[in-house]
Order: sequence, then C-alpha cells, then structure tokens
Amino acid sequence: MVVFFFHDCAENDSAGDARHVPSPTLPGAGRLNPASSEPTPPAPAFMMDHMLIRTGKYLRICGFDAEWQRGVRTHELIRRANAEERVFVTRNRHIGDSYPAPRALLVLTTADPVAQFREILAACHLDPRPGLFRKCIRCNRWLKPLADRELARGRVPPDVLKRQKRFWSCPACGTVFWHGGHVRNTCRKLGLPLP
Ligand SMILES: [Zn+2]
Repeated sequence: MVVFFFHDCAENDSAGDARHVPSPTLPGAGRLNPASSEPTPPAPAFMMDHMLIRTGKYLRICGFDAEWQRGVRTHELIRRANAEERVFVTRNRHIGDSYPAPRALLVLTTADPVAQFREILAACHLDPRPGLFRKCIRCNRWLKPLADRELARGRVPPDVLKRQKRFWSCPACGTVFWHGGHVRNTCRKLGLPLP
C-alpha cells in the first residue's frame, strides 16, 4: 500500500491507520482524465530520498520530473523539495518527525525499484506512456528530436547510425539517444508498451 502523509494533515500515522490522501492535494498533481484516458498535466514533481535513485530514474524514463542529490543530508533534500514544491519520496515512515517536515510526502512500502515505480504511478494516478523515453535520464530535461539523422553522425556508434532512423538529443548534456535494445529491455522490465 502506498500512503501520503502531509505534515499539516496527517494526524496520526503511528497506529497503522495512515490515510491515503487523494493525489489532487499534491502540488501540481496530475491525474488521468477518466473521459479521455489522457493525463492532465502537470504531474507532480518528485524528490527522491537517497535509497530511491534507481526508482527516480524510472520516473525520468517515463518523462516525469524526478530529482535526487547525492552527498547531501536528508534535511537538505527535504528543504529543496519544499522550495521546489516536490513530493518527497522515501521509505522512511518516520521522516515526518524530522525538521523541516516535507510539505508533501510519499512513503513507499516496497523494496524493489520496479515495484516502487508502480507504487508511485498508482498513488498519483500517473500514465507512464506519453512521456516514455522523452527525457534525459541524466539531466531531467526534455529531449529534442534531431531534424536530420546525419546530425547524429560521430555522436553515436556507426552501426547505430546505420540501423536507426530517429535520434534525440539532450539540450543540457548533448547526449544523443535512440530507441534501441535498451528501450525494449526497459519497457519489458517496467511492463510498458514500446514508445
Ligand atoms: Zn542530458
């Protein structure tokens, strides 16, 4: 089960009766529109606790705004999450006791990153398909399609250039991406259709 705790509305989470707060109360929460099955943007932005970086990468793979920061204290992560209106995602059920308390907190119950990823999608009613492989996994920035595949020459292995027709690049780091075997493997792993 996935639960949301909010420091200003979670009255008691110690007795196992933590409430599942509907996602519209999340900052920037996006939900599926039942009429059209299209997501209503924007989806919430996330700040991942230190142990959840791989899960954060899965979120980025699906185009969601997920950040993490190695080498800083958890308090600093929470401060940044609050300042940027991000949902702080953790497995620590006692994080609400810390100062500053997260404004929006999502406590995951599973240990496996794929299961955690699914927990987040379910809790926030997120559709992972529209943004699939549209973001740079390193920079959290939207990719831009290369107008001409020749622009990928010298930036990808020659055999990839020969086989692939479409390429995308990151405006921040310049990395060129394509939909190769890694995309198929990741989609299979996450149970998602190919983009
Ligand atoms: Zn990048």
